[in-house]
Amino acid sequence: MAETDAQRILVVTAHPDDSEFMCGGSVATWVAEGREVFYVISTNGNKGSNDPEMTSDRLVIIREQEQREAARVLGVKEVVFLGYGDGELEDTKEYRGQIVKMIRTFQPDRVVTMDPYRRYFQHRDHRTVGLVTLDACYPYARDYLHYPEHLQEGLQPHKVAEVFIGGSEDADVFVDISETFERKIDALRCHVSQIGNGTREEFVERIKGVFSRFGSHTVEAFKRVEFRR
Ligand SMILES: [Zn+2]
Repeated sequence: MAETDAQRILVVTAHPDDSEFMCGGSVATWVAEGREVFYVISTNGNKGSNDPEMTSDRLVIIREQEQREAARVLGVKEVVFLGYGDGELEDTKEYRGQIVKMIRTFQPDRVVTMDPYRRYFQHRDHRTVGLVTLDACYPYARDYLHYPEHLQEGLQPHKVAEVFIGGSEDADVFVDISETFERKIDALRCHVSQIGNGTREEFVERIKGVFSRFGSHTVEAFKRVEFRR
């Protein structure tokens, strides 16, 4: 299926590093094609460490720096952190309102998020971010009477044309990232607190192994959901 001509793309994920793992090559490809990409990271990733010496407070600072650097490597225009605790995302009116506000702020043609319906093996935050983001796109961001305080802040309602859902078992859009795979590796390697300090070669082999299970390491797959105009 051909992609639509989305010029503004908003990627909404749970943790610092989710975007790079899920769609880092696609993001680099879209930026190279002249599209604008924005990130919203819902949690601060403050539980993501196996180091018994690490504290959650220190980890928040490290992971934000790593995420900003990875986004810079990929050419992302702006990164917004919502700052929820890792593992603590809930489907609340407040969180949904924050995603709606991001959609009304960045006015994306395409939203990219995580699959809330993946079966059995799934991080709870990934499930929640996917569910809340789909709801935020339709109908909340579209309709004036939802979160009317945004209007007073000068924001307009917005119709998202399509959502790309990463990590889906029902993928139907396949982005060739053979040209941007090395850039994706560069961005992933910014997340040192998550992937360690091994060599690039070791890391590339690890990524190839993980992604070969889904077909190929030079393809990123999405389920596309189109909303009626
Ligand atoms: Zn994650």
